[in-house]
Amino acid sequence: MQAEIIAVGSELLTPTRVDTNSLFLTRKLGERGILLARKSVVGDDRQILTNEIRRAREASDVVILTGGLGPTLDDLTRDAASDATGRPLVRHEWIVRDIEERFRRFNRPMAKVNERQAYVLEGAEILYNPRGTAPGQWLEDEQGILILLPGPPRELKPLFAETCMRMLDRHVSQQRFFTQCLRVAGIGESDVEQRIGKIYSGDPSVTTTILSAPGDIQIHLRAGAPTEEAARAIAEALGAKIRAELGRAVYSLNGAPLDETVAGLLRGRGIKVGVAESCTGGLLAAKLTAVPGSSEYFAGGFVSYSIAAKRHWLGVDEAVLDTRGAVSTEAAEAMAIKARERTVEALGEPAIGVSVTGYAGPGGGTEQDPVGTVFFGIADEEGSAIRRRQLGLGRNRVRALAVQIALELLRRRILGIS
Ligand code: ATP
Ligand code: MG
Repeated sequence: MQAEIIAVGSELLTPTRVDTNSLFLTRKLGERGILLARKSVVGDDRQILTNEIRRAREASDVVILTGGLGPTLDDLTRDAASDATGRPLVRHEWIVRDIEERFRRFNRPMAKVNERQAYVLEGAEILYNPRGTAPGQWLEDEQGILILLPGPPRELKPLFAETCMRMLDRHVSQQRFFTQCLRVAGIGESDVEQRIGKIYSGDPSVTTTILSAPGDIQIHLRAGAPTEEAARAIAEALGAKIRAELGRAVYSLNGAPLDETVAGLLRGRGIKVGVAESCTGGLLAAKLTAVPGSSEYFAGGFVSYSIAAKRHWLGVDEAVLDTRGAVSTEAAEAMAIKARERTVEALGEPAIGVSVTGYAGPGGGTEQDPVGTVFFGIADEEGSAIRRRQLGLGRNRVRALAVQIALELLRRRILGIS
């Protein structure tokens, strides 16, 4: 079964509004194994919308429209659906009375235009919308299913989740779906693909999607079966094979992000952490404190952005700063060691200090260490380790990637992976 979504509203064609309803609908359809073939955004234009509905109904079994069901003259979804299906709009007196009643409850008179919302495609089922005035509509004919839903998300979401999903169940097979999400750090996308391509392409019962973001790869394994438990077992069997191939580069088996994984490790092992950041300007501390309860293991940190701060706050040797510079193995090491010392003073052992210093750009850099070069330091009771990485260009990208790498190095240090 194939579906399409048409988001209606000229505001969705401006730079300031985004169609988020379709993301919600896509997820819900996916739960029933209904694939989205296409989605579109159409402004408040009756003719364009009519053509789009006709085209979508020719192509797909289920067509869902969101928005444009309100009372104003630019709300044209009903009229366009009527033009496209050749079905007249029928006025339902009980809907008029229902809208009047709502206005009365708020002590407001009902403007006449609201009656527009009482018109329903001939033969359509009315989807009662307790959170708004415009009801949804559900039409089934020889072309398939056409669903009209109100635009406001707080009305659309419950209406679809509660009413439409139940109605859809009459049409879909009783398949249930489960998606396992593995997350991987510390190896590149092409390496991941190369190592696991054979494994997942040999298993047609699971749909595999690889999503790549800087420093973070997600592997989605989706399986369908008569029950959710059976679907989960199929997905997880493939997940286990992939995990065996990639080993501990897989940091999460349930989609949890890296900061949560690191938080779990620190909490579970009673390890404290402190940071000294330069080019990330506090982003690493922000990430570490984004997880609730982080005061248990996060001592605090320095945003030692200037050379003077590295020298005066962290005691990085003047000779190091003069000869090797603030972006260097030596500076990263001194920063990590100081972050650890201060963490031990604050929260006790065992403690790890993490440092980040680099050239985020666009200015700066040296011939030897050009823009994008970042040094990472990790210090614990066994000593310190420094990594130098070249993260490419783009200030925001370099900073975000540096945070991700610092977390990954921290995870590896805790687990004893070199
Ligand atoms: P109303 O009775 O509020 O006019 P409506 O069904 O006519 O409802 P629209 O006028 O199209 O819906 O949209 C109302 C509001 O709902 C918009 O201002 C917007 O905030 C939100 N909205 C509409 N469509 C979407 C969408 N596709 N994604 C997210 N929000 C949306
Ligand atoms: Mg409207």
